[in-house]
Amino acid sequence: MLDDKYVYAVNCPSWGEIFKKLGLTIPPIRNDFTLNRYMKCFLHKEKTASLSLVERKSFWYCFGCHEGGDKFHFVSVFLFQRNYKRTARWFEKKFGIPSPYRGKSKPRREV
Ligand SMILES: [Zn+2]
Repeated sequence: MLDDKYVYAVNCPSWGEIFKKLGLTIPPIRNDFTLNRYMKCFLHKEKTASLSLVERKSFWYCFGCHEGGDKFHFVSVFLFQRNYKRTARWFEKKFGIPSPYRGKSKPRREV
């Protein structure tokens, strides 16, 4: 999974771009230094927003349920029930980021 992480870390679009493609409204920035945004968690009911989106680190974390990870993980949880292949295809279709799952059946070449 190291390769996959690298692919998404290098090519990853901003939270704003991802939210637009998801059809969601991006929450406003609450902290000008870290560029953090907060929203209500989509995994459980809550009255105050405890899910934070951290732009500087391409990371999200919910202080309510302790779920979190990178942007790829966010989309996989939000849309695809953690199906990584389908998430990779989504990123490929929406942002042109090559899916690391493409041609996985071929033997890996040593470099
Ligand atoms: Zn949560």
